[in-house]
Amino acid sequence: MNHPGISEIRTAKANLAGKLRTTPMEISPSLSALAGVPVNLKLEHHQITGSFKLRGATNAMAGLSAQECARGVTGMSSGNHGKGLAYAASQLGVRCIICMSDLVPQNKVDGIKACGAEVRIIGHSQDEAQKEVDRLVAEEGMVMIGPFDEPDVIAGQGTLGLEIMDQAPEAEALLMPLSGGGLICGVAAAAKAIKPGIRIIGVSMERGPAMYECQKAGEPIYVEEVATLADALGGGIGMDNRHTFAMVRDLVDDMVLVSEAEIAAAVRHAYWEERQIVEGSAGVGIAAVMANKVKLTGPAVIVLSGGNTAMELHHRIISGEDVDVTAKSAR
Ligand SMILES: *Cc1c(COP(=O)(O)O)cnc(C)c1O
Repeated sequence: MNHPGISEIRTAKANLAGKLRTTPMEISPSLSALAGVPVNLKLEHHQITGSFKLRGATNAMAGLSAQECARGVTGMSSGNHGKGLAYAASQLGVRCIICMSDLVPQNKVDGIKACGAEVRIIGHSQDEAQKEVDRLVAEEGMVMIGPFDEPDVIAGQGTLGLEIMDQAPEAEALLMPLSGGGLICGVAAAAKAIKPGIRIIGVSMERGPAMYECQKAGEPIYVEEVATLADALGGGIGMDNRHTFAMVRDLVDDMVLVSEAEIAAAVRHAYWEERQIVEGSAGVGIAAVMANKVKLTGPAVIVLSGGNTAMELHHRIISGEDVDVTAKSAR
């Protein structure tokens, strides 16, 4: 199996030129003091559509023929891929249907619809939502663009890695959220091509860390999807995973898990100390550093991957309320 690498990522960069933002990189004085090394934040939650997912979606759309565009695109999503794909498709006037489980927060459903896509809520997990995607492909001829395990998507996310290495060439470690692995595989492929010794650290939530469990098992396994503040990190990696399982195995140096309370503390820190509004999933890198779960020995970059939080939930978290989303009724 050929996995995407630096040349595909450089092609993606050309495909994305002029369509996306180059997001800022900023030093965090407080996290630097805490870690004892310079800690930079890559503010990718300021990307158009509020997350890095627009990179992969835009690159995947750029690879479609006119015939494929005419058939329309569909994909399963925990929200941010759906918004990225909806936006990228709308820019080209292409029809788009996003399939999601009922674990997806309403603000993400609304965001996707606002980008002009149709949304279908199917079942209680992304595996169930994927069945509707498969049906749309088989029966209606739509083109599937998945959230992480596709070469064009991984290469698109990899453009974030190129940007990071431009903005912080001194970095010795990169921390970022890990779910299906499109983000970390793309970023790691780019960063390690430029700086082979750089350390890549993936952070997942304790509640349903699919890639972590699969790597421990040595193969893709079923991991139950449960409610978490890191809602964008939920869902399995696919039993027929073609790229990200192997790429994570080969390119990721450490995997760390954080608790719900640690995620909430990170979202709070991002707001009060960094003046950044991030969603729970984007806070896990900060959470890992604050909870002292990674030893940093040189300059580090933490990727803030998205900002599509439900503002009411965010308000409760930053106000110090003990927010528990793990009981479904609380969501
Ligand atoms: C999708 C997503 C992730 C995880 O990305 P993967 O490519 O699935 O590992 C992290 N943060 C946010 C905000 C996301 O939307």
